Amino acid sequence: MLIDTHCHLDFPTFDGWRDQVIERARRAGVGAIVVPGVSARYWARVLELCGSATDAVHLYPALGMHPYFMQEHRSEHLSLLKRQVEKYRERLVAIGEIGLDFQLEHYDETAQTELLVEQLKIAKAAELPVLLHVRKAHDQVLKQLRRLNLPRGGIVHAFSGSEQQAQEYVKLGFKLGFGGAVTYERATKLRRFAQQFPLGWIVLETDAPDMPLSGWRDQPNEPFRVAEVAQTLTDLRQIELNDLIAQTADNACALLSLTCCKSSR
Ligand SMILES: [Zn+2]
Repeated sequence: MLIDTHCHLDFPTFDGWRDQVIERARRAGVGAIVVPGVSARYWARVLELCGSATDAVHLYPALGMHPYFMQEHRSEHLSLLKRQVEKYRERLVAIGEIGLDFQLEHYDETAQTELLVEQLKIAKAAELPVLLHVRKAHDQVLKQLRRLNLPRGGIVHAFSGSEQQAQEYVKLGFKLGFGGAVTYERATKLRRFAQQFPLGWIVLETDAPDMPLSGWRDQPNEPFRVAEVAQTLTDLRQIELNDLIAQTADNACALLSLTCCKSSR
């Protein structure tokens, strides 16, 4: 079973054709999709979407406040997040998408860091893993993770750091998300990591509708393309596709305690 550990299936891009997107994913062998919430106004939508799922493709919600939407976030959203996490604790698989993005124009390092730390504390109290978005800020994120010592780690989505930073994340219980970026031949560093990192470190993702794969830049990305990400990693590592799919699914299942894993394997 393929697992897309990071897909914004709730985004309006998919309105009107979401069922087709899910059906195409199912036919490509995708058994589960993790849907991270990015801002308070989307949380209800994420929960509703994931609650309406059929057994064919399991949809798992996560809730969080993304650094990209700093202007939208309010301090009261943190207390709302706490209440939502208490209420939906059994359904949520993680807190996310949260993180630091120092690649954004005019970013406010202090505001981003405060918001991240508060959300990490919520994850720690609820004993949930986190889904991290990190750009040009891996050392700063690692510093907070070391300080807070989360019980269940998480996933560094669309990993873009160094080999040493990868090792640090893994030591702290994290997996590294590989998605469409690895399908670009010019992504030499990332492709080398995809070859060399132990398979136990890696989970698959698409970040759909964002992060189009090589050759598909003119249309929204879709979760079925996680199959192509798996194929690229398989080619790079020269292993059996089924072994790669099984091991990365195991990684995601163990980390996120996905309910579908026991029944389907
Ligand atoms: Zn995302």
